[in-house]
Amino acid sequence: MQSSQLLIIGGGPGGYVAAIRAAQLGIQTILVEGENVGGTCLNVGCIPSKALIHAADEFHKLSRYGAESPMGIQAHSPSIDIVRTIAWKDGIVNRLTGGVAALLKKNGVQVVKGWARIIDGKTVEVMNAPAAQGGSGLRISCEHLLLATGSEPVELPFMPFGGRVISSTQVLSPDNLPETLAVVGAGYIGLELGMAYRKLGVKVCIVEAQDRILPAYDAELAKPVLAALKTLGVSLHLSCRVLGVDDAGSLRIKDSQDKESALAVDQVLVAVGRRARSSGFGLDSLLLDMNGPAVQIDDQCRTSMRDVWAIGDLTGEPMLAHRAMAQGEMVAELIAGKHRRFVPASIPAVCFTDPEIVVAGLTPDEAKTAGVDAISASFPFSANGRAMTLESTDGFVRVVARRDNHLILGWQAVGRGVSELSAAFSQSLEMGARLEDVAGTIHAHPSLGEAIQEAAMRALGHALHV
Ligand code: FAD
Ligand code: NAD
Repeated sequence: MQSSQLLIIGGGPGGYVAAIRAAQLGIQTILVEGENVGGTCLNVGCIPSKALIHAADEFHKLSRYGAESPMGIQAHSPSIDIVRTIAWKDGIVNRLTGGVAALLKKNGVQVVKGWARIIDGKTVEVMNAPAAQGGSGLRISCEHLLLATGSEPVELPFMPFGGRVISSTQVLSPDNLPETLAVVGAGYIGLELGMAYRKLGVKVCIVEAQDRILPAYDAELAKPVLAALKTLGVSLHLSCRVLGVDDAGSLRIKDSQDKESALAVDQVLVAVGRRARSSGFGLDSLLLDMNGPAVQIDDQCRTSMRDVWAIGDLTGEPMLAHRAMAQGEMVAELIAGKHRRFVPASIPAVCFTDPEIVVAGLTPDEAKTAGVDAISASFPFSANGRAMTLESTDGFVRVVARRDNHLILGWQAVGRGVSELSAAFSQSLEMGARLEDVAGTIHAHPSLGEAIQEAAMRALGHALHV
């Protein structure tokens, strides 16, 4: 039996950040990870998806220039070797996961490779632990147990993963590209990767149960993405349900009028959400308070059992890497005796479609629902010089603020490259900025950021460039 002050199950963004911070604070920490450190995000999520999206963008740009470019650029018959693309993507993943392993080591975290099974709130058994680390059945006791086991893709019971039916993990590592890909779910994964596949030359159709794409975002933000899907030639089947796919690749769908039809497909990416990974490793034996499959936590990430903590996707929405990391850092500091609470002014979210969408804080509708008397104003990229030079004039930046004292409550943006504006949005919200603060800040010219200043000015009634 080994012992530790802090035992962490899961080495994703939540778990590995908690481990590094805890070790920095002098807490003796063991991290148990069944696969590779970095978790979903670094291995099969955020990073590989953004690498593939970038490669697809570059290829698409060249293909477009071949046809016609108002800039006078010509590129004849571009081609892509997807095996090399995937090797390049894997290289980035390996560099990052190797970097995380090195940081854990440098800070003195003991990483045990194997699958953890919970015995009780203070004891964990590790299956398949390497012999040098104690071998299979290694038992580790702890003062604090941090659960960071993440999430897994939701499977459609009548169309399980296997054969033609794939999850985001397989779609990120194709041996070769299919001719046609059907995507079930027009959320984050379906749209980010569906668009990327289309740009790589694959025929893509998307089947979505709701009557619009990206139902989690407001319709105005999703509009430029919808237009881009149409331009790319992605076929959309909204308000439709999939019924199943047969061995010959016929995907049967049913529309809102119960009319059935079939689509001929090579592969089907099912991207209908992710579920907290809370079963199969003894977590149920702790009888923690749950929210469905997610572990219920308070604003310090404490579960209903003393000294058992939970962070990240395991605790439900929003399932985002930066939330998991922020929670992990906080839990380490709490265990070290610091006073912390998880009450961020916002957890920004970015959808890496083309154009990208960013949201931070409240939308106008959310402010209204919360009973706040708010004003909002948008500034279009069609009036921003930098956006014109980037051929990206679709989209806008929108600000939401209290009417009485102009405290900024939220930002939204849609446009090419707007993911990088998320830092400015989050900072202004976290620092309690008012419209006047942003309107009075000199923003470099020409930059997309000027649209932030102009949106604030417009909310104050004196935009300059629109
Ligand atoms: P995870 O990263 O899932 O890590 C959990 C770890 O626990 C895993 O490594 C797993 O092997 C391990 N584990 C589980 N059970 C056990 C056990 N019993 N014993 C030992 N180890 C165990 N988020 C963003 O913010 N931005 C993005 O751009 C983004 N893109 C994404 C793209 C895709 C395709 C996907 C699938 C997700 C994306 N996400 C993105 C979501 C992001 O990956 C997750 O929110 C994040 O990884 C959650 O971190 P976590 O630490 O909670 O869990
Ligand atoms: P999602 O919740 O974003 O989208 C799922 C979509 O599937 C929704 O539009 C939903 O209406 C639809 N749907 C559900 N059941 C359906 C059915 N039977 N038939 C047709 N459509 C159906 O989920 P996702 O795209 O799988 O992503 C999972 C999670 O991963 C996200 O919620 C997010 O937390 C995380 N993620 C984040 C990013 C990012 O931050 N850029 C990128 C990818 C994934």
